[in-house]
Amino acid sequence: MAMEGQRMNARLERPDTLPALQVLAELGVDVARGLDDAEVATRRARSGENSIARGPRRPLLLLLLDQFRNLITALLAGAAGIAWIKGDTIESLAVVVVLVLNAAIGFGMEWQAGRALDALRDQTRSRALARRNGTAMAIAAEELVPGDVVLVGAGDRVPADLRLVEAAGLMADESSLTGESQSVAKDSEPVGIDAVLAERRSALFLGTAIVSGRGIAVVVETGERTELGRIGKLVRDVPEARTPLQGKLDALGKRLALVVIAIGDDGWMMAEVGITLAVAAIPEALPAVTTFILAFGVLRMARQKAIVRRLAAVETLGSTTVICSDKTGTLTLNRMTVSDSRPAGPDGERALHEVAVLCNDATLTTGDPTEVALIEWASRAGLDLASLHVREPRVAEHPFDPRAKRMTTIHSLSDGGFRWALKGSTEVVLEACAIRAEARAPLVAINDELAGRGLRVLAFAEKRTNVIAADAENGFRFLGFVGMIDPPRPGAAQAVAAARRAGIRLIMLTGDQVETARAIARDLVLVEGEPRVTHARELVGADAHRVALATDVFARVSPEDKYRIVEALQASGEVVAVTGDGVNDAPALKKADVGIAMGERGTEVAKEAADIVLADDNFHTIVAAIEGGRTIYANLEKFVHLMFSHNLSEVLTIFVAIVLGWPLPLLPLQILWLNLVTDVFPAFALALEPPEPGILDQPPRPPTESLVSARFLGRIVWQASMLAGITLATYAWALARFGEGELARTMALMSMVGVQIGQMFNCRSLIRPAIENLARSPYLFAAAAAVMLLQLVALGVAPLRELLGLEVPPASTWLVLALSLPLPIAIVEIQKAIARRSESSAAMPELG
Ligand code: ADP
Ligand code: MG
Repeated sequence: MAMEGQRMNARLERPDTLPALQVLAELGVDVARGLDDAEVATRRARSGENSIARGPRRPLLLLLLDQFRNLITALLAGAAGIAWIKGDTIESLAVVVVLVLNAAIGFGMEWQAGRALDALRDQTRSRALARRNGTAMAIAAEELVPGDVVLVGAGDRVPADLRLVEAAGLMADESSLTGESQSVAKDSEPVGIDAVLAERRSALFLGTAIVSGRGIAVVVETGERTELGRIGKLVRDVPEARTPLQGKLDALGKRLALVVIAIGDDGWMMAEVGITLAVAAIPEALPAVTTFILAFGVLRMARQKAIVRRLAAVETLGSTTVICSDKTGTLTLNRMTVSDSRPAGPDGERALHEVAVLCNDATLTTGDPTEVALIEWASRAGLDLASLHVREPRVAEHPFDPRAKRMTTIHSLSDGGFRWALKGSTEVVLEACAIRAEARAPLVAINDELAGRGLRVLAFAEKRTNVIAADAENGFRFLGFVGMIDPPRPGAAQAVAAARRAGIRLIMLTGDQVETARAIARDLVLVEGEPRVTHARELVGADAHRVALATDVFARVSPEDKYRIVEALQASGEVVAVTGDGVNDAPALKKADVGIAMGERGTEVAKEAADIVLADDNFHTIVAAIEGGRTIYANLEKFVHLMFSHNLSEVLTIFVAIVLGWPLPLLPLQILWLNLVTDVFPAFALALEPPEPGILDQPPRPPTESLVSARFLGRIVWQASMLAGITLATYAWALARFGEGELARTMALMSMVGVQIGQMFNCRSLIRPAIENLARSPYLFAAAAAVMLLQLVALGVAPLRELLGLEVPPASTWLVLALSLPLPIAIVEIQKAIARRSESSAAMPELG
């Protein structure tokens, strides 16, 4: 025991140079059983978590200080300074208090958003298949400890530094570590002590990828002590935290601030006006709010099973024009059932069953659904699976390769010979059997009949050899066909229809043959009328682009074809979303504008290359993600609309008053208060707005369209003028009645609060009535109530009232003030009604 402990403490130097059995012994693990839970716990305590620190996180204090590092703070500090010099201690302190409050809210929003994004990141953590307590189980890669037995296969991310114990056709892509893009072959033989990193064939390194084959390995190092950890590279890049739109909005805010400063004056009295204007104009809450809206929109998408890995994809989703979707498992259930079989000869049925079971990696309950279906079928027919495997053990194999569309296994027989079991696509298997031309036609007819019914067709063949090293491609005897159904996913047809209504073209991709694909496309009503189906081999040459544009279904697609299809569509200006699951799909996923990986069936490599991961592999979720993306963009648009119209209305109110020679209607502190109250709560409310009904009935947003378009600016200007007009009218009335002073300014502020709440409802929709489906927007009411309540508190609580320079307006004025809220809604409703009218008459031009 003590000795073992000692051994365990010593680092195993270069285990790749030692025989596998010795490594296992040194690590104290039985490869057939793996570690036991108790043992894992002990080792875990010693080795720590299997992770590499991903760059220092921004400390909370810095995040808080960030909130002060902006222009508005400098300006306000200036304002506080001026107030101090003028002897107005209270006001200068008040500015500081509001400043801190502002920063605290910004900080809170960004912190919340950060936590939301962290939670998302946890959902995309990589998993590993480990053997523990004698059974294979999927565990989080972070949980691995030295000595763990790990099963690796094509598409896996290597979860720690491993020493191979067993390998079959194993190839790894180590470019992340060595920079060498060529895949390297791996096996379990020890290497020489002078082997450099790239030559250590018996080792697998954290962060590299398995390209093909499978293997069993034991963990030798974890976390920071791995090769990757020691060179200090990150395992995976942290998903980008910002989107292009966010960048643009930030830049816009800065430009606005500069403009305001440029026109600001420097006289004593004018300094106050300049600062007031600046405070009014600069959208100080914009960065925090955009982060917030994005984060919460993305969380909502995660609840609908679309997990966003790269935030920028959210914007792209809104302008996606084409979805290239896998068929099997995404549009269909990938729940295969053999529904028809056609043995070649009278004795063929039994041979067909046997080969289906021999050439198979699945069991009755686990594995590739295609293979599980075959096992089910054979065992239903009464074949004794266990005794077959004992009688004819597998000694070699050529694993299924979606490009070759075939799989072969080799089994040793009691007479010393070998039985080869082959299954694959019809073309490939007929080829391997060298069927004569005249015998071919009836077989092809059977295939076409099965495929025409939408069945996935597999062909089977076998041969016997005396040696194991024989020609793997030829000399097989044809055994027959099996046809299996894979029903469309419930709801897939509706989701397809929804995507079409949303103006999005759908292209189905499948490895199955043309006729099978056509039948499924008809079932799903992929297009109106007859789907245009193309065999992927037609994608070569100069015509590839034209072919890609005129196709609804691609059959016999390989991952390389996917890449070409995406490329061709993009070249003609489409914004393309593409789905993928395999390790070879990574290039297409990266190339696509929105790469979508399958969460259930997808490989780690595909998930890492993707922008979005579908937790349920369901096509419906892609459509939900598009709706989510459009909603986030729409909510950002609504907030930007709100914020700019608010700010401009404040600027106009002050500006017009000055031009007219009136006393200043709002003081800097009051504007600060206004922004604090009327921007923050609506921001929360708009972030939580549900998608507008019909958001999926509009065409995709043109990718070049700018959020701040001429139309947008026009709308802001007229609505801000309207809001300012109402406020100024109230102020004029108050000036006439009560004269210059605190009371008149209070009335201006109250009116401004009112119109700004009204404007919040106007921002719900550009065309629909503000009051439509209000029950779906409880947060807007909550925000409106919160703003009003705070304003009443400001009036009612004496110290706050004095701080803000307010005076309680007499009861006789409240009716006038109360009008400020509904008036902007009524005015904008009239405009919307006119717009709706002209739109519908434009859509339906009168005849004659
Ligand atoms: P999809 O892209 O629709 O999932 P696949 O690439 O998985 O299609 O399959 C394409 C073709 O390869 C199938 O039509 C079938 O002929 C063959 N095939 C599929 N799975 C296997 C397998 N496990 N063994 C042998 N052949 C297979
Ligand atoms: Mg498949």
